[in-house]
Amino acid sequence: MPDSTQKLLEDAKVKGQQRLAEGVYYLAVHAPKIAAAARPGQFVDIRILTGAFILRRPVGVVAADRENGIVAFIYRVIGRGTRAMAKLKAGDTVNLLGPLGNGFSMEHKHPLIVGGGMGLSPLFFYAAGMKGKADVLMGGRSEEEVFWRSLFAGIAKNIHITTDDGSVGTKGFVTELLPKLLSEGSYDAVVVCGPDPMMKAVAAIAKEKGTPCQVSLERRMGCGLGACLSCSIDTAHGRRKVCKDGPVFPAEEVFF
Ligand SMILES: Cc1cc2nc3c(=O)[nH]c(=O)nc-3n(C[C@H](O)[C@H](O)[C@H](O)COP(=O)(O)OP(=O)(O)OC[C@H]3O[C@@H](n4cnc5c(N)ncnc54)[C@H](O)[C@@H]3O)c2cc1C
Repeated sequence: MPDSTQKLLEDAKVKGQQRLAEGVYYLAVHAPKIAAAARPGQFVDIRILTGAFILRRPVGVVAADRENGIVAFIYRVIGRGTRAMAKLKAGDTVNLLGPLGNGFSMEHKHPLIVGGGMGLSPLFFYAAGMKGKADVLMGGRSEEEVFWRSLFAGIAKNIHITTDDGSVGTKGFVTELLPKLLSEGSYDAVVVCGPDPMMKAVAAIAKEKGTPCQVSLERRMGCGLGACLSCSIDTAHGRRKVCKDGPVFPAEEVFF
């Protein structure tokens, strides 16, 4: 789907923050224009207004409540920017640029969502948009990392879990369960976001099973608008910018 949405710059008041797991936070802000425009799979570039940050930080939209003008994110603390985000309190202001990039195709009737770690964040918005039609296969290192299951419980039809240490669900990676699920589940699409090696492996299995696959890529990016070219990648159709032409791509375009 081409990125045709208008880009908005919006000062957003923080409504609140909640710790979901070690180093992982849910952040809700009041940004009614972006809430009205955002589609599943899109992201925003957040500017933290302490004066210490030149570059914005890209974060996927996890939910957009159009009625109340709230946009939400789930992020992991990685470095300086996300550490500053974790200190935000209700009433603080951030500046958002977005919604950016294209979104997931919402046309499928029974998709299988496959997510690893923070990759489940844009997939949550997608699952909500599919209104109970999607199943989810989620993977994480341990039980704490699949805190996502309680979030997806209300919106996905069936939830399958793998953990590296076997503390919950099937022991191993999502690729342990995927072939069986695709053989038995009559899925018309696989929609995946997570670490690159995982997405590549998932895309290969989906291809083998003849199921179309969309992937959502993450790359370091500067402007978020397609101007600085820092997130350019090689694809089957030449160079593409993850921020503008993606982050969602058909799998065969990027893993070829
Ligand atoms: C389209 C997109 C959507 C994303 N959605 C989410 C999400 O929903 N939840 C979440 O936890 N994380 C998400 N990320 C990753 C998130 O942007 C980085 O973790 C964050 O920018 C790290 O910033 P930092 O200052 O804390 O880390 P530092 O390592 O100090 O960052 C230094 C610089 O590198 C950039 N950078 C570092 N890691 C990444 C990365 N993985 N991707 C892109 N830029 C990076 C930063 O933006 C910053 O400019 C997304 C990234 C992209 C590209």
